[in-house]
Amino acid sequence: MSGAGSADLDAALAPRLAERHAQARYRQRRTADRAGAHVHVDGRDVVNFCSNDYLGLAHDPRLGEALAASARRFGTGGGASHLVSGHLTPHAMLEQRLACWTGRERALLFSSGYQANTGTIAALTGRGDHVVHDRLNHASLLDGTRLAGARLHRFAHRDPAHAGQLLAGLDPARARLVVSDGVFSMDGDCADVTALAGQCRARGGWLMIDDAHGLGVLGARGAGTLEAQGVSADEVPVLVGTLGKALGTQGAFVAGSHTLIEALIQFSRPYVYTTSLSPALAGATLTALDIVRDEPERRTHLQTLIGAFRHAAERLPGIRLMPSDTPIQPLLVGRGSEAEVLALARRLADEGLWCTAIRPPTVPEGSARLRITLSAAHTHADLDRLLSALEYHCCSQELTDD
Ligand code: PMP
Repeated sequence: MSGAGSADLDAALAPRLAERHAQARYRQRRTADRAGAHVHVDGRDVVNFCSNDYLGLAHDPRLGEALAASARRFGTGGGASHLVSGHLTPHAMLEQRLACWTGRERALLFSSGYQANTGTIAALTGRGDHVVHDRLNHASLLDGTRLAGARLHRFAHRDPAHAGQLLAGLDPARARLVVSDGVFSMDGDCADVTALAGQCRARGGWLMIDDAHGLGVLGARGAGTLEAQGVSADEVPVLVGTLGKALGTQGAFVAGSHTLIEALIQFSRPYVYTTSLSPALAGATLTALDIVRDEPERRTHLQTLIGAFRHAAERLPGIRLMPSDTPIQPLLVGRGSEAEVLALARRLADEGLWCTAIRPPTVPEGSARLRITLSAAHTHADLDRLLSALEYHCCSQELTDD
């Protein structure tokens, strides 16, 4: 390809964009006036059923105040990477709190879950090593494996025995990392961490769990999928958590042994070569952790909403629930076509109910779905509105792309 400058670049990109359009898979953003369950978007008030703000903390005034106080005291930005001069007091305090919460020796902050996942896998494995994935793992885990140059293997979704079979066939002289989401982001179901840990123990793999959607939500203390399943920290040497979902801020962390954290500091390029997480966000996250500890009623309310939603939705003809007990409640609609899911999302939006249609390539072909996420900030009245709208649109009308 010849040419230089903006016009040439645009000319090269235009056919790719046109192809997306032609496939009806063009991604579009909408601008909301704020984070939270009740927002204003495209000129109207809507109930947001597609946020990961599971505990309703993203717009909590206490986090806002902690953020402002931390910014005043420590700065809005870290000003450098952690290894230069960007590692500040609130980072150190937050790492200690996160380690304590997850029952680990240490924790290490990253600026996002995407970076934590890519940076961890690429630090622990390299060319010739093996990373064994659940088939539905998050994209950042797959990208980490590519970044590492390691060989990628995939086991059937939530099938630890299959993971064990794959592990058994791999060269024990090479690093073998087994990776799974704790709660699967598009299906809402949970990994069987106990069984995965058993396979790793028997066959010699290291287990890494990305609990982005479990932390803050599951377990009596909100310590996530491992707490809910009674799995000890020892059995899962690498735990990843994010701060941008239930904790209502932004960033992520890896928790594990002292040696693991030292290895990440030395070898994780996505950790080393980036500006530290904002110290203001670190301060706000400390307050979020206080709320997670002191207000278990948020989790209780959320679980009640999940139960009520499933109880009512499983009686509605025309939609199918997936086996999820978490705030992520995907709905398979009609015959499962993308057109049907898109049409339903549009009709709900017309009634002020914001739910996203999730389509391939984010989910496998033929499994387009409406992904509903519930939050402790939702009321029973919000839920009733959603259920009535679903009943009306799924049961009384043919869902076609209109
Ligand atoms: N892991 C999982 C399972 C996720 O769903 C996501 C984001 N939705 C991430 C990691 C990435 O986290 P972050 O948004 O902090 O980059």
